[in-house]
Amino acid sequence: MENSFNSNSAQLKKMDPEVLNKDYGFSIDSRKETATGLRYCHSRINDNTTKTLESTAFLYALIEILLEKGMLPVEELDSRKKKIASRLVEKFSQSGTGLMYQDSDLDKYEFDEEAEVDCQSNLAACKAVCCKLPFALSEQDVEEGIVKWNFKRPYLIAHDEDGYCVHLDRETFHCTIRDNRPLPCRGFDCRSSERWPIWENYSEKRVNVQFIERINNQEIGRMFFEVADNGSAKVDNE
Ligand code: SF4
Repeated sequence: MENSFNSNSAQLKKMDPEVLNKDYGFSIDSRKETATGLRYCHSRINDNTTKTLESTAFLYALIEILLEKGMLPVEELDSRKKKIASRLVEKFSQSGTGLMYQDSDLDKYEFDEEAEVDCQSNLAACKAVCCKLPFALSEQDVEEGIVKWNFKRPYLIAHDEDGYCVHLDRETFHCTIRDNRPLPCRGFDCRSSERWPIWENYSEKRVNVQFIERINNQEIGRMFFEVADNGSAKVDNE
């Protein structure tokens, strides 16, 4: 008689992956996202471990040579080690590990300075290009778990391959999570932003073609990634 484990596995193999994942409470998309996130974590751990091993080997070799030559008083080494360790811990807590959060503790649901831009009448010209801009989420967004973030660059808003935020409806150019959208989406005023000059002339509905090109060729996104790679924990989104 076939044991029940083998028969269940055989049945599972025959099932459509969509159905299989649905039955187990995962969509294909969420499995892919989880895998991407895990790959990111593993590659960071791998890089960090390699660098740590290299530095440790170098340091131990140096200490051994100096001790052998009688050039290093052990007590002094120990006390200096403690001082430097506390200095490094403080620096680490300030600069983080490449994670990016908004430099703001405002509650987005209490935010009462929303930009009053008439998006609907500008969409034909701007094509909601503001929803291609990179920005970091707040701790509130991440804990709430509604706004998706980029698993490879935590916690920048997630963009699709076309450069748009994953929450943008591509047909209507409306936000699909409007009530829960992050603070920068609420406060961003495209008419007056010096940092993100979308318009050459807002009243004439003329967009800034050069700037839009920079967004479309990912130049602006790469600037943000560099900040993350340099270990900045808090970013000013505006
Ligand atoms: S969350 Fe909504 S408003 Fe904000 S970038 Fe995404 S689609 Fe645009």
